[in-house]
Amino acid sequence: MSQDLGDYKRHQFTPPDNNGRVLCEFYCSECYGYVYVKLNTVLEGNHVINCPNCGHKHYRFIKDGLITDCRFHDGHNIADEIVPMRSAWQKEKRVLGAIAQIRQLEAVGEHQ
Ligand SMILES: [Zn+2]
Repeated sequence: MSQDLGDYKRHQFTPPDNNGRVLCEFYCSECYGYVYVKLNTVLEGNHVINCPNCGHKHYRFIKDGLITDCRFHDGHNIADEIVPMRSAWQKEKRVLGAIAQIRQLEAVGEHQ
């Protein structure tokens, strides 16, 4: 019986799918720093992203948890406001690891 259960568990294993969080890099053109936040991949729509360093509000469209370069007009159907922690900001651009890069591609459906 215990042997059967072991086989069952082994065959039930599936690699994690894309339901999770993806690391986003966001550049603040007001204070010239980078913000790194992990966003849920179900996020989509117009969002306000507050710079944790200077407080500037950025209006961006988010697709599958990734912050795109698409802006939208102030006050137009804002889905949510994102307020990263102060420690998410840094002056230097961070080199993303291989796994973080793959996750980003997966989030936008471009990873094979
Ligand atoms: Zn800023």
